[in-house]
Formats: sequence, C-alpha cells, structure tokens
Amino acid sequence: MKLSVIIPCYNEEENINNIYDSLKKVLNGFPYELLFIDDGSSDKTFEAIDKLYKNDKDHVKCISFSRNFGKEAAMYAGIKHALGEYTCIIDADMQQNPKYLLEMYNYLENNPDVDQVAMYVENRNKKNLKGWLANKFYKLVNKISDTKLLIDASDFRMFRPTVKDSILELAEVNRFSKGIFSWVGFNTVCLPYKVTKREKGESKFNFKSLVKYSIEGMVAFSVKPLRFITIVGVITSIGSLIYILVILINKIFFTVNVSGYSSMMSVILFFGGIQILFIGIIGEYLSKTYLETKKRPIYLAKHKIGFDKKNIL
Ligand code: UDP
Ligand code: MG
Repeated sequence: MKLSVIIPCYNEEENINNIYDSLKKVLNGFPYELLFIDDGSSDKTFEAIDKLYKNDKDHVKCISFSRNFGKEAAMYAGIKHALGEYTCIIDADMQQNPKYLLEMYNYLENNPDVDQVAMYVENRNKKNLKGWLANKFYKLVNKISDTKLLIDASDFRMFRPTVKDSILELAEVNRFSKGIFSWVGFNTVCLPYKVTKREKGESKFNFKSLVKYSIEGMVAFSVKPLRFITIVGVITSIGSLIYILVILINKIFFTVNVSGYSSMMSVILFFGGIQILFIGIIGEYLSKTYLETKKRPIYLAKHKIGFDKKNIL
C-alpha cells in the first residue's frame, strides 16, 4: 500500500461523492486507501460513505465516531489506522484540490531526505477579519511558543512512516495538530496551494470555536504565559514596595498627605483586572492538566467498515 488518504468529515453529506470522485480520478493507478472519518455527523454522511464502500471495497474504509469529537480527533484516528507508506490528510469539502496530492507525492518520491510536505494557503485573504485574525494568531503563537508554526500552514499534508509514528506517540487528548506536526521535527518542506471557496455545506469553525482553537494553540505548546505572570508579579511587587516607601517617607518626614480617591480606584481596578486575567491564564493550564490526567480516549468509534479484511493492494 503506497498511500493512505485521511478525510475527516463532519456533516459533509453533499461533498462525500465529489471528494471521492476527484480523489479516485487523481489516484487512478496508485495502490491507495481512502480513510473516511465520520466525526459524529448528524446528517447522512455515514450512509454516503457506506454506499461508497459497498461499491469500492478495495479502497474505501470508514470509522464513524459515537459523537462529534472534533477534526483533531478525526485526524488522529485516521493516522492510527493508516497502512500506507505515505499518509496524507485532506478536507472533505473540496476546498483543497486533490490534484495537490500528486505534487506532494512526487516531492516525497524525488527527495528521500524530506519527511513531510505541508501545504500552505497561498491566497489567504488578509483583508477579511478571519484572515487578519488568523495571521495575528500565528504571529502571537510563534512569539510565545518554542514550537514554530508556519504562517497559513494547513493540515493538508503528506508524510512518511517516521513522522506518522512520532505523531501517534503524542497521545494527548487536547490535540493541537498544527503544533504537533511541527513539534515532532523532521525535515518538512512547505508548498503553496490555492484554497477554493466552499461550494456545498458550511464551515464547521465559527468565531467561538476559532477562539477556543487559538487558546489551545497557545497553551498546548508553551508555558511562557505562566512565566510572564511571574515576571509581571515580581516587577509590580518591587514597584509597589518602592511606592509604599515613598508614601511613608513623605508622610513621616514631610507630613505630606497623599490624597486621591481617583488614583486609588484606578490602581485597585487595574490590579484587580490583571489578577483576574492571570488567574484565568493559570486556570487554562490547570484545566488542560485536569483533562489530560483523566486519560480519556481521544475518540470512540461506533462503526468501523473496511477493516475486517487484509488490504493487500
Ligand atoms: N471537520 C471534522 N470535525 C469537526 C469539524 C470539521 O471532521 O468537528 C472536518 C470537516 O468536515 C472538513 C474539515 O474538517 O472536512 C475542515 O472543516 P471546515 O471546512 O469546516 O473548516 P474551514 O475550511 O472552514 O477551516
Ligand atoms: Mg473547509
């Protein structure tokens, strides 16, 4: 088996046939498997994949989750079950043209020293709010994290077994794949691709889930925010101590009465705000630690199809 293609699908019933047809066209002649991961869809996604399986048992496999566990969990499940020499991930919504699989494949074939080919969005619209925020997010994460993320990098990528095994070794439940792909190291080459507009269905990532994803990205690969809190704490303590001394000296030796309701209120409110913010940051780390200690499974499968026979192609 040369190539395993992982396709995370969440409520993509309108796209399943299209992505299948275009993948089949591109991969014609290759020994490949298509691993559809139905991430707890509430529409007819599973039925559509099942139908494909019945017509093409040699290539189609599916794991259907018991509920929606998120794209990160879907990618993990796919990587875990991939049998191919090369593993790749592609969205189900046709925004990532399957023709790029050949580009990635050829790159790996012609460059034995390269372990991973990652595609980055060449035509991200930085003028709209989502694009602008995404850009700022990458810059911020790169500033605070030791694991550098490539700006505009996507999960659209292909890698060798060494990378696959390393990704699986990171068995954390709170998965931030963009960080994981980069944290494992190896020789990664980035190629540009043009993202197309989603024609059917809608994006599963709304503003709220993107904020959650961004916090995950910052917390998962860096403890620098915690160090920052300590440093701010030390600086403000020293500053306050000096200021208290100034007030005392003024009061005792120069009998200057320090007045000011407004200045006092501003200081109280300012530090009150900072304290709550810092407790929140600590809480983020604490909650992640709490969830990790439970060691819950990353996903639960309801159905698995296509795994009962030995796939020798
Ligand atoms: N997806 C998933 N589980 C989720 C959300 C998304 O498997 O909880 C899949 C989705 O079906 C698609 C891919 O992840 O194949 C990318 O999602 P989407 O197109 O909504 O993201 P966007 O392109 O808007 O960033
Ligand atoms: Mg999409």
